[in-house]
This record gives sequence, structure tokens and C-alpha cells, in this order.
Amino acid sequence: MSAPHFKYILVGGGIAASSAAQAIRAIDTEGGLLLLGQEVNRPYHRPPLSKDYLLGRQKQKEIFTLPDEWFIQHNVELRTGRRASLLDTARRMVALDNGQEIAFDKLLIATGASPNRLKIPGADLPNVFYLRSLTDADRLHNAIEKAQREGRPHAQSHAGHDRQRRDERDAGIGEREMAVLAQQQRQHHRKPPTAEFLEQHRQTPVHRR
Ligand SMILES: Cc1cc2nc3c(=O)[nH]c(=O)nc-3n(C[C@H](O)[C@H](O)[C@H](O)COP(=O)(O)OP(=O)(O)OC[C@H]3O[C@@H](n4cnc5c(N)ncnc54)[C@H](O)[C@@H]3O)c2cc1C
Repeated sequence: MSAPHFKYILVGGGIAASSAAQAIRAIDTEGGLLLLGQEVNRPYHRPPLSKDYLLGRQKQKEIFTLPDEWFIQHNVELRTGRRASLLDTARRMVALDNGQEIAFDKLLIATGASPNRLKIPGADLPNVFYLRSLTDADRLHNAIEKAQREGRPHAQSHAGHDRQRRDERDAGIGEREMAVLAQQQRQHHRKPPTAEFLEQHRQTPVHRR
């Protein structure tokens, strides 16, 4: 049986892939288009994850980049919860994590970035959080609520993280993992191995996938 074929495959279910789908449909309304993302949710905006969504002021449906119907109306096949695991450019074929192969004419790799995992003592403690996805934001939100209910101290204001992230981006250092920034801001809480790690991390260029 021959592999299914799409004129366009967009790998990565973030804002880049979502915007590319819209841009393609503005000039080609018919070419087969597959948007493939490993997260279970359709593309959404990430900035609210550390702001209104985290605080419970914005609902999940408000942060999606496009309504569900858009994909149907524009004949865009949306496949979520599936990871592209292999790319064969000679055969113009992408293999999914379930082994299925799909052929393409044009492929966009828009797989974004993922946080560097801390490699320091205590990094695997249950209350160390990473914030990149909707699932991460839900987990963090629940933990903050639980801590509040139990009267325990919890995460500091996210606004500070974002300001620092902006400063770092402006300085050409690039986007990096939130927990690191949280710790950079809490110098007085640092233990020597943490401080040493952060100093090394600060001097290391950030590599995007
Ligand atoms: C908490 C948070 C707050 C932010 N706030 C701001 C802000 O205030 N201002 C700002 O300018 N930017 C902000 N950003 C950054 C902004 O969200 C990113 O620049 C943007 O999401 C990048 O979009 P993208 O589509 O390139 O990548 P991503 O959003 O990373 O999307 C890539 C997608 O591809 C998926 N993927 C990866 N590999 C595969 C694979 N092999 N197969 C299938 N799918 C795959 C990933 O799971 C992910 O869903 C923030 C980011 C975060 C996490």
C-alpha cells in the first residue's frame, strides 16, 4: 500500500506551524495540507501560559490560535498527539512515532524549542516545574492553588521572569528555561552548586531544536 501523500506537511503544532497553515491557505486553497503536532492540543499561544492563563483569568479555548472549525473549513488535516520521528529527504517522506510514513512535496519544520533540564542537586524534586506547554501550565496552576490552600509559600511573580527574559533576548542571549530565571532572581536562596551551574548556563549559547 502506498504512503499517504500531502503537498505540504507542517511539523510542529505551535504558532509558527499555525501561521504557516494560514499563509499557505491564503495562496493555495486546495493543496493537501497536514499539520502534525506532538502535543494533544491544537496550536495555541504560549505567552498567556505564564500570565492570564496561569492565573486562571483566561480559559483554554481563548488561547488557541484558530477555532477548531477553521481546519475543517480550510481543508487542513490536523493530527495532534503524534510525533514526527524520522525525516527522509531523499524519499520526501516523514515517519511518525507509530511507524506510519507520509509523503510530501514541501515540508516545514517548526518544532520550536524546549527547556534545558536542570542538572543540579534537587532538580528532580517534585515541586520543581518547567513551563512550556499547556499541560505544564495546568500542573503549575494546580500546585500554586494547592500551596495557597495549605498556606505554604509558592512560586514568585511570573512578571519578573518575563521582564528578565525580554532583557536577555534583547541582549542576544536568547530564550531559556523559566526555572533557571526564577533561580537567577533569587540569588539569596542559591546554594553554591546552583550558582555555579547558573553561571555556566548563562555563558552557554542556547540551541534551538
Ligand atoms: C511560558 C511562556 C511565555 C512566553 N511569553 C512570551 C512573551 O511574552 N512574548 C514573546 O514574544 N514570546 C513569549 N514566549 C515565547 C513564544 O511562545 C515562542 O517564541 C513561540 O511559542 C515559538 O513558536 P513556535 O511555533 O516556533 O514553537 P513552539 O511554540 O515551541 O511550538 C513547537 C511545537 O512543535 C512540537 N514538536 C516538537 N518536536 C516535534 C516533532 N518531532 N513532531 C511533532 N511535533 C513536534 C512541540 O511539542 C510544540 O508543540 C513564551 C514562551 C513560553 C513557554
